[in-house]
Amino acid sequence: MKQETGWYAYTRRKFLHQLSLATLAVSGAPLIPACGPASNEKREEKSTEQQAQKKLGIALVGLGNYSEGQLAPALQETQHCYLAGIVTGTPDKIPKWKSKYNIPDKNVYNYQNFDNIKDNPDIDIVYVVLPNALHAEYVVRAARAGKHVICEKPMAITVEECDQMIAACKEAGRMLSIGYRLHFEPHNKEMMRIGKEKPFGELKKLTAEDGMGDVKGWRLDKSLAGGGPLMDVGIYCVQGCRYTTGMEPIAVTAKEAQKTDPVKFKSVEEGLTWVLEFPNDIKAGCATSYSKEMNTLRAEAANGWAELSPAYGYSGIKGKTSAGDMNFPEVNQQALQMDDFAQAIKEGRPTPVPGEMGRQDVKILQAIYQAMQSGKRVEIT
Ligand code: NAD
Repeated sequence: MKQETGWYAYTRRKFLHQLSLATLAVSGAPLIPACGPASNEKREEKSTEQQAQKKLGIALVGLGNYSEGQLAPALQETQHCYLAGIVTGTPDKIPKWKSKYNIPDKNVYNYQNFDNIKDNPDIDIVYVVLPNALHAEYVVRAARAGKHVICEKPMAITVEECDQMIAACKEAGRMLSIGYRLHFEPHNKEMMRIGKEKPFGELKKLTAEDGMGDVKGWRLDKSLAGGGPLMDVGIYCVQGCRYTTGMEPIAVTAKEAQKTDPVKFKSVEEGLTWVLEFPNDIKAGCATSYSKEMNTLRAEAANGWAELSPAYGYSGIKGKTSAGDMNFPEVNQQALQMDDFAQAIKEGRPTPVPGEMGRQDVKILQAIYQAMQSGKRVEIT
């Protein structure tokens, strides 16, 4: 297997006979003492070591563009997790994925037999990368199968679904994380630092815009996407404003852009502008679109400013402040995001991007739509 090289292959060989024990340790199940107290201690020491060293197995659910183009390649770079399995409704895709990533037959599932994943110790984490309206079902099924879960953004299409997803993971004693890769990207992290440490004084105003052209398929179907560009890319503006201010918006006003193609955009908005009101009279002017490329996050403070442009891509993010250019290295955001989740599971610490964060975004997105439809200021309680 490609991922079984170097120290990982060594670890696997050395501890192969104890892997089931390590799996129990990772999954949080109690360790069963085999002999007297002294050897118990040794065994526990060993299992802790194994727990720390074992790469957790991830199964990708949905082998579309994001899984194929970003997540699977990123999983070749991760240190704490690896691509162990796939779940797909398209049998034609299986041979290519199996040979490219050395995935055994026993780790390949379809949407019907997916629940059998509960019996597969190779899979520690299920990563749901399906159209938005399907996230809730697969997160709940993954949790019930006893797996930790990463769910792509937006977490779901309603707050009620988010509640069900959070509850299912809590009930199963499993962790839930949202695919918010930008929390692991240095320029975006610098915006969080600037908002928190206030090197330019108190924040006054934000601008966040994210839009793209050339969209097709399920993203134009409200029943699968939950909405238009707001659900897909506008969510990054909401996220950007939340993590830069470190605060929650208290109200919103919004306006739908005139549709230039009412047939294409029959069930979703083509574009949308909105203003989020934060405490301390901070206002964030945001825009999203499926017919215009936009990609910025800007914060203005009492004594200076900071801006990312582009702000939200997988690579090529650039930042400037009133004091000069930001100078951070390019990182593999998805690899860092998945490794952090695997480490959080191993260390028993919370993820910085939990289901509750995804739920809050969905709540704000719903308030934006409500403001757009009513033409009124909507309070976010
Ligand atoms: P995609 O259309 O390329 O892939 C979707 C996959 O879902 C396909 O493999 C398709 O076969 C499968 N599928 C299963 N049931 C389906 C159905 N009923 N209708 C349509 N497809 C169905 O989409 P994508 O770009 O990979 O997006 C998937 C998810 O990932 C979305 O939630 C999206 O918001 C998210 N995403 C996140 C990022 C990010 O940067 N975090 C980037 C892209 C996409």
